[in-house]
Amino acid sequence: MKKNNSLDEIAAALKKADTVLLFPHISMDGDAMGASSALCAALRKAGKTAYVVVEEKLPDMVAFLDRGYCTEDPKLTARPDVCVCVDCGEYKRFPKRKTLFRTGALSVCIDHHKTTEPFLDLNFIKEDAAATAEIVYELIPLLGVEIDEEIGSLIYAGIVTDTGKFQYSNTTRKTHLIAAELLALGVRASDISIMLYQNERMEKLLLGARIFDDARLFADGRAVISCITEKMLKETGGRLDETDGVTESLRDIRGVEVACLLKEKTAHTIKVSLRSKKDVDVAAFSEKNGGGGHTKAAGFTLNGYSVEDAKNMIIQQIEELFL
Ligand code: 5GP
Ligand code: MN
Repeated sequence: MKKNNSLDEIAAALKKADTVLLFPHISMDGDAMGASSALCAALRKAGKTAYVVVEEKLPDMVAFLDRGYCTEDPKLTARPDVCVCVDCGEYKRFPKRKTLFRTGALSVCIDHHKTTEPFLDLNFIKEDAAATAEIVYELIPLLGVEIDEEIGSLIYAGIVTDTGKFQYSNTTRKTHLIAAELLALGVRASDISIMLYQNERMEKLLLGARIFDDARLFADGRAVISCITEKMLKETGGRLDETDGVTESLRDIRGVEVACLLKEKTAHTIKVSLRSKKDVDVAAFSEKNGGGGHTKAAGFTLNGYSVEDAKNMIIQQIEELFL
């Protein structure tokens, strides 16, 4: 299995197909949503039947980007020629859709996570792409499709979210050049940013306040940990699917290098989100715990732990990183 087939090979496979299904990861973020929807829109422009298949309600933050791309309807997703996993690289990241994914005659992975290993028929895994949407930006012209304002807006949303609004070290000259091209196509960057970042429910912000209230600094102030429990959700009216940005805010604390947020999904299933500022590789840390991600943004799921036990275990592990 090759880590990287060429984008030309992938484009040729997509051009041959009639029906293409796109599979972004669970807990969709702007890049998973933007990259998969942009590719979906482009495939439709090329005359294909294409859908983004999802397995959960779209998070508020990205729902505005869906213009009829996303579906859970099995009637619309029967007998795909090609199934593409987008912005992820293992079945664990789209668990309820694995069976459907495997009905595709050909499978493709398009991703930029450093922990992704090739696992499908065709793979394009580019760790130094700032966002999967950047890869999609390069793939679409190879399909013979012109990027228009709609497709461009989806790509822009992917790039702006995965670069932390063009702040993170994955942001390159190329990232800015692509963004500039998208603006030239009429993409309204400021409107997209307002929808992504200035459109919060009050309850979400109240939950954020509780998370900060609960935050505990450790490792001499170089790390911070907090959690979201059922109780906090009930008391604030916040939801687990709208915590985007909170781990980043914890990381923003002066002196903090690693931020960790635990989310109690069900009793004894805890989703762990990690962010680092500069030097610590949280992808490697997450991989050791069965997850993965990027150097500075990664995560994993713990089964069989209470929030308190998970917290203690992770504090100990993170403290070891600073020894
Ligand atoms: P978040 O903390 O926002 O859920 O995820 C941060 C980054 O790590 C995202 O790029 C996400 O795709 C990745 N990530 C989060 N959880 C997992 C996981 O359990 N496995 C893998 N492979 N990647 C993850
Ligand atoms: Mn991404």
